[in-house]
Amino acid sequence: MSPRETGDDGRRDLPSIDQLLRSDEAATGVERWGREAVTQALRETLAEARDNLTSESPAPDPDRLLAAALGKLSSDRPSLRLVLNATGVILHTNLGRAPLFRGAARAAAEVASGYSNLEYDLASGERGDRYAHCTHLVSRLTGSESSLIVNNNAAAVSLAINTMALGRDVIVSRGELVEIGGGFRIPDVIERSGAFLRAVGSTNRVRVDDYQRAITPSTGLLLKVHPSNFRVEGFAEEATLESLVALGRASDVPVMHDLGSGLLAEETLPMLQEPSVRSSVAAGAELVTWSGDKLLGGPQAGIIDGRATTMERLRSNPLLRAFRVDKMTLAALEKTLRSYLAPERALVEIPVLRMLGEPAEEVERRARDTMELLSAGAARHISVAPMRSVLGGGSAPGFEIASAGWVVSGPAMVLESKLRQGDPPVVGRIAEGELHLDFRTIVEEQQRLLAAAVDRLFAKEDAE
Ligand SMILES: *Cc1c(COP(=O)(O)O)cnc(C)c1O
Repeated sequence: MSPRETGDDGRRDLPSIDQLLRSDEAATGVERWGREAVTQALRETLAEARDNLTSESPAPDPDRLLAAALGKLSSDRPSLRLVLNATGVILHTNLGRAPLFRGAARAAAEVASGYSNLEYDLASGERGDRYAHCTHLVSRLTGSESSLIVNNNAAAVSLAINTMALGRDVIVSRGELVEIGGGFRIPDVIERSGAFLRAVGSTNRVRVDDYQRAITPSTGLLLKVHPSNFRVEGFAEEATLESLVALGRASDVPVMHDLGSGLLAEETLPMLQEPSVRSSVAAGAELVTWSGDKLLGGPQAGIIDGRATTMERLRSNPLLRAFRVDKMTLAALEKTLRSYLAPERALVEIPVLRMLGEPAEEVERRARDTMELLSAGAARHISVAPMRSVLGGGSAPGFEIASAGWVVSGPAMVLESKLRQGDPPVVGRIAEGELHLDFRTIVEEQQRLLAAAVDRLFAKEDAE
């Protein structure tokens, strides 16, 4: 029996590093990048080749392995780079959450490549306010008196609790002691922000009375948290924000609403059943915190809306410096917010809103049209099929949206891995043993790139 028949998958047919180093090409490579780097590149290439070996595919020949290894060294490809998201998950946390629209990305690049009036008032020639570039827009869009921008919503929550309730109690419903992901748990955040958690009610039911009974002279804040990533169904009751605001006013305790996703386009996206920023502000919450890169579709940022006096207190907290946003973020955020000034433009311009709003038939038409860019060999492996996209990013749990894309026939794990390690990398999803490429999260400009990547998977067949 040959090794391959024993299940070794041709592993023994792979050359050793020493063998590969003996050729003239390898010597040139060593001269250019050093023995250490070439050896490391060969080691990586051989490991990848070993992973990609199957009983059907023979081991690649030494010349190709060497070329692949030297290719790694010659392309000074950055580690962080653009990826095609064919998972159908619109706010994919691991793939960078919200993609920016071109105008916002350009604004960030422009401001980054030179000096800017970040903290300089051009009219007076005096020191300016870095937040002012965005805050007047935020307040105009949400109806708040004042606002502030920090690095992300986690920072917004910490800064707000630390400012309002240092050394005091924060009252929260037991049903809202949520974990957002990445170790961000509300009880821990309250404690690390220097306050004490006072949980009230039960997991599924809480009433205003429960909050009222817990209020003491050491209460610093009533906190309502939007349980972004799960839903409670059945025998459940919660206190409305309005009722908490009324209680807070009567007891002289501020109320904060941590929204998480922060929807601004609520009129067009009611199916998400996500609370809107405007309604929380209108309900009279002292503070409303939300993310820039969830449903807003902007850069990573934490946005805080609230009363002017409260915002002044937040601004004078020394922790604000630790949570300070960079000029690139502010430039991209300003551009994103400006897009919302004309809501119908935002729906077309902001990728997250556009992806959420595209009809399934339209996604399917794009998937079909893109088939025409494929070579005959690759097209044989592709069929267009209905799929289901989700919002992701720990938002709108249970929400699904009809979509469409390519089902690639063949060994799903191998195909998935090859696409993922290609250039540009394509991340798909394996469903029921098949590789699915959902077109909802592939924008029109990327269709050509996706077709080329799939073509490369089956390049050998075309040559035959
Ligand atoms: C997502 C979320 C956060 C954390 O926001 P980041 O922008 O990821 O830091 C906090 N609270 C809630 C309710 C969230 O949904």
